[in-house]
Amino acid sequence: MTTVLVVEDEPQILRALQITLHAHGYQVAAAPNGATALAAAQTQAIDVVVLDLGLPDMDGLEVISGLRGWSEVPIIVLSARHGSDDVVDALDAGADDYVTKPFGLDELLARIRVATRRVGVQGDEPVVDTDEFSVDLANKVVMRAGQRIRMTPTEWSLLELLVRNPGRLLSQQQLLSEVWGPAYAKETHYLRVYMAQLRRKLERDPAAPVHLLTEAGMGYRFVRYPGQ
Ligand code: CA
Repeated sequence: MTTVLVVEDEPQILRALQITLHAHGYQVAAAPNGATALAAAQTQAIDVVVLDLGLPDMDGLEVISGLRGWSEVPIIVLSARHGSDDVVDALDAGADDYVTKPFGLDELLARIRVATRRVGVQGDEPVVDTDEFSVDLANKVVMRAGQRIRMTPTEWSLLELLVRNPGRLLSQQQLLSEVWGPAYAKETHYLRVYMAQLRRKLERDPAAPVHLLTEAGMGYRFVRYPGQ
């Protein structure tokens, strides 16, 4: 059974999350503040953390740093502040994804499913298909409408990273560090240029992408089945 640690100080939200998560077959550990959350994560087997950033005793960022000192448990941040710096800070500190308050429970459940999908399970598939293109990871071949699409080595590295993590938010810093190297972690214009190229090659409407999505100011997300 998957155990979700919910770190939230608002009793009504906590209660709603507990009911919904139980109804979907999750076990729930609840923590009303950061200290309780860190203690719970050390004494219980936690599969995913849902973390409110605004906590009474400490900043949510401190909880992320505390967890990341010894744990790679997926962390989904709940943020009341839209597309703001603290979500970027949370991602940089090691959070895996975020949901903006007020959030739909369906959206949160989808994020939890992605976060708890064992890393590499989908990524080990030799071929990742979408309704528009397919990526053969083993042979480094991208096909679209029966045609092989040429990729530069950098385009391939970026695309490979995205399709190996379907549904997962990859932060700008993560992508830049992985593809270009840690020294390039701030060169976000590289990403804009290369994502535009990938979309021109792979999206039906590059101006309205459905597979290679931008999360404004945060990062990018590969979506295999649009509308999912
Ligand atoms: Ca709060």
